[in-house]
Order: sequence, then structure tokens, then C-alpha cells
Amino acid sequence: MDKKAIIFKCDCYGHAIEITKDDEINEYYLQHWYMGHHKKGFWDRIKDAWKIIKNNSLIAEEILINSNEYDEFIEYVRKCK
Ligand SMILES: [Zn+2]
Repeated sequence: MDKKAIIFKCDCYGHAIEITKDDEINEYYLQHWYMGHHKKGFWDRIKDAWKIIKNNSLIAEEILINSNEYDEFIEYVRKCK
């Protein structure tokens, strides 16, 4: 599986958005990550590691869009600049 990804971190350092392109199916994953705002201690990091092992990630939300929808998304972002 060939995937390309980019991550944008929120200025608050508690959130992030990841955009991943899956070349195999020609679709894009938009993932919203929530890492929390407080400084994490040892046990919090162990809990996060367990979540990653159990669920493969800390992703809060994820949508899958096709390449036409992705083009619309990019066009919208360009117009907003
Ligand atoms: Zn944030």
C-alpha cells in the first residue's frame, strides 16, 4: 500500500489534522487527532500507547473522500486564502 501523509498541528498543541493519500484506492483520509492539552505524565503516555496498540491510533474522527471531493476541498482552501 502506497500512502503519502502530511500533518498540521494546532497552535494549541492539543490537536492535529492529518491528510493521507492512498494511491491504491485513489482516496484521501482526513483525520482529526486529539492529543490533549495538558503535559502528559508517564502513565498518560502508557495509556496513549495502549490506545495506539489496541486501536492503531489516537484518531478522534476520520473521513474518507474521493479525488473529486479532494479537488473541491483544495479549491475551497485556495479561495479562502
Ligand atoms: Zn487546538
